[in-house]
Amino acid sequence: MFEIANKSINHKAVRPPAFPLFPGRAGRNFIGEKAMLTEAQLQERKKGIGGSDLHNILNEKPYGCSRKLWYDKTGQEQDHPVVTTSLMQRGNVLEDIVAAWYVDATGRKVRRMGSRIRKSQPWARVNIDRAIVGGERGPGVLECKTHGREIFYRLKRDGLPASHVLQLQWGMFVTGYTWGSFAVLWPDGWQFIHFDVERDDEMIALMFKAAGDFWKQVENGPAPHRLDPKDKRCQECPFRTTCQGELLLASVNDDSDVETDPSLEKDLNEFLELKKIQAEATDLVKQKQNELAELIGSRPAVECDGHRIYYRPVETKRIDTRRLKAEKPELYEKYTNVSVSRPMRIYST
Ligand code: SF4
Repeated sequence: MFEIANKSINHKAVRPPAFPLFPGRAGRNFIGEKAMLTEAQLQERKKGIGGSDLHNILNEKPYGCSRKLWYDKTGQEQDHPVVTTSLMQRGNVLEDIVAAWYVDATGRKVRRMGSRIRKSQPWARVNIDRAIVGGERGPGVLECKTHGREIFYRLKRDGLPASHVLQLQWGMFVTGYTWGSFAVLWPDGWQFIHFDVERDDEMIALMFKAAGDFWKQVENGPAPHRLDPKDKRCQECPFRTTCQGELLLASVNDDSDVETDPSLEKDLNEFLELKKIQAEATDLVKQKQNELAELIGSRPAVECDGHRIYYRPVETKRIDTRRLKAEKPELYEKYTNVSVSRPMRIYST
């Protein structure tokens, strides 16, 4: 996958112009180092716990699962291998630009740093994006992120997600630094923000305890508990067949007419991707509507910028079908029509 990307972006026609925040670096191969991780380096990651593992250890929603991480660290083969997406590659490619933008915006200096491992607990390790150096506060940890529009705005509105916070605190714990920063770029909108974060020793103590307990399970078992098979995290888990097996499909009764058709793969994956975007957009619309409602307050109607917003109480009458069925079953039957639809339901197997 990476080889393909490398060939296409090395083509002269698509090489980006020298970015002004990279004085003297136009000739450098701009692929981030993370995109070039070898199998040996990936195996190296299995030898300990890094910053991006913490949200899994703590089962943090929306993606974290300690059992999933346990499968990964103990070398279980994935039933449904994770494919590196173009968005993941974009994040890696843009890491240098995010770091350079951070330097430009803050006037601070950064430098690359190799992996760090705690001497007393060699399973505790970290690979930070950059070390912030040369300032009065002493060295700090810099994590560079790229996000799409929705997450970028959510992050501006609600602050950092738990997975980011845990990652940065773990970086401070292993390096011994007392502060850190997040640099976040929304590439399509070409907007950038950065946050400073202080070391939180209380949070670090909790993380350290949870990570130590988890590592004992990696070394000696048993595997951490499963999540409920109906949990959304299980639906796309690369280890879902090994972990949940038939429980995932327990709610599907009839499999007598199921055919296998690999030709649907591309369209199915596009559909699932679009559903994710739709769910995120619906969430944002609801949040914005609540904010608007708060701003409008008790006013029944408001005009603004060529629009009129009505926000009045509206009376609606609905039949209580559950009660009707319980109290007047013959009437309910009499006025119930049977219609046939063909809903598309997709389950993970
Ligand atoms: S299937 Fe669910 S419980 Fe099992 S490892 Fe995956 S996310 Fe965790």
